[in-house]
Amino acid sequence: MHNDVRVLITTAYKNQACDAYDNHGPTSRTIDSAVRLSRPLPLYTGVRFIKQNVPQIEILESPTWEEYRRALRRGWDVVGFSFYTYETNDVLQMADYARKCGVREIWAGNYGALNPFIRSSFDKVFIGPSETTIARQLGAEVRDIIHPPLIDAIGVKPFSPGIVLVGVLYTVIGCPMKCTFCQASAFLKARVRIPIDSIDRVLRYYREVGANLVVIYDETFGIDPDYARHVVKLFRRYGILWCVLTRSDILANNFDEWYESGMVGASVGIESLNPAILQSACKQETLEDTLNTLERLHRSNCFIIGFYMVGFEQDTAESIQRDFRELARLKPDYTPITVATPFPQTAYWDELDHKYGIDCSDWSKFDNQHLVWKHPRLTAEQIRGLVEDGYDLLNSGSYFGRFAKKFTHRLNEIRGPAQTYSYLLAGAYNWLHGYTAETINNQRYFF
Ligand code: SF4
Repeated sequence: MHNDVRVLITTAYKNQACDAYDNHGPTSRTIDSAVRLSRPLPLYTGVRFIKQNVPQIEILESPTWEEYRRALRRGWDVVGFSFYTYETNDVLQMADYARKCGVREIWAGNYGALNPFIRSSFDKVFIGPSETTIARQLGAEVRDIIHPPLIDAIGVKPFSPGIVLVGVLYTVIGCPMKCTFCQASAFLKARVRIPIDSIDRVLRYYREVGANLVVIYDETFGIDPDYARHVVKLFRRYGILWCVLTRSDILANNFDEWYESGMVGASVGIESLNPAILQSACKQETLEDTLNTLERLHRSNCFIIGFYMVGFEQDTAESIQRDFRELARLKPDYTPITVATPFPQTAYWDELDHKYGIDCSDWSKFDNQHLVWKHPRLTAEQIRGLVEDGYDLLNSGSYFGRFAKKFTHRLNEIRGPAQTYSYLLAGAYNWLHGYTAETINNQRYFF
């Protein structure tokens, strides 16, 4: 293939407008609460990375079916799809339509492409970050991966999104841990580091556009301790407030250094409060680790997003309700509740398929919100009801208030009262001027 090959990379189509509120993808449900965090449509960070590094391709993010049809009329040699397993049915429909329109090659990428049952529908499958392999297909080369600017905006209902501008950051992609339910190790065998110069540049850009917070979306920040230390130094140099996705044990090991460098919150996988479940899922950390870390985050006024999973083999309705009551006592500031799902190419898939059988008749149910296998003690309806009860117990009410209180406290500690006021004023300014992620991204999508 050569440079003049016309390639379009698209995400799955969406025909219904997505609720901008509580939009954490399929792992949440809308909560009927007066004050809710809000954010615009999700950023498609993977396709932005590809476009940044292979500029000759074109991208479409979350098109409607009509927008997709219109885009196909422009004529492409290749159409590629970046998708998750729950989007598979829609992507197969899109691929079929592209072939009917005369597209010669269909590609698949992202986590949805790990599914061996649909491999024959695609001419090429890209596993892991694909900038380098796509460039090579087109006779080009990516020497050092460039991190694109990725600005998100979080607001509060009933106002439009835009009070807090968030810069999204990736530093190391991949995780060597082997939690049985997670596809990360199948997706990427070796970790990929984003060059530190590129991280430096994107952080300077976030500072320039007035981002209030940087969120690190690595699967597990700190898995590469020396590299994390370089990144944390940059946060300190630029006086950036940041929060992180990581594991409790890694957070505990780095707590003081990260806290002193402007960390204001963390997302960690609690997964379960049953030590036997943690052990059988090969989580390789103890419940004690997690509880100690939650306690330390609370004491330090750092906000906590604690992911929790229901529907493991050992779970019963009573054990899940008991865990919810305990979680209410531990009080993560927000608790996304997901249904433990066997995804293709995980050890969890092999185990459950062998013992109970997995229902693959509808890939849209592989969204972490449905039971897709024959659980010995719980039905799909029971699981659904339990997830809703959990949301009502743990996440209703003003969780925004808890975030705001902790954030303001940390801000005041780090920057002092004058800068805290200017942050609050900047939030009001953003809102009054109708700033959204789009407004900022229109200034700059790519470097
Ligand atoms: S630590 Fe997190 S990212 Fe790594 S394998 Fe486990 S669940 Fe996946």
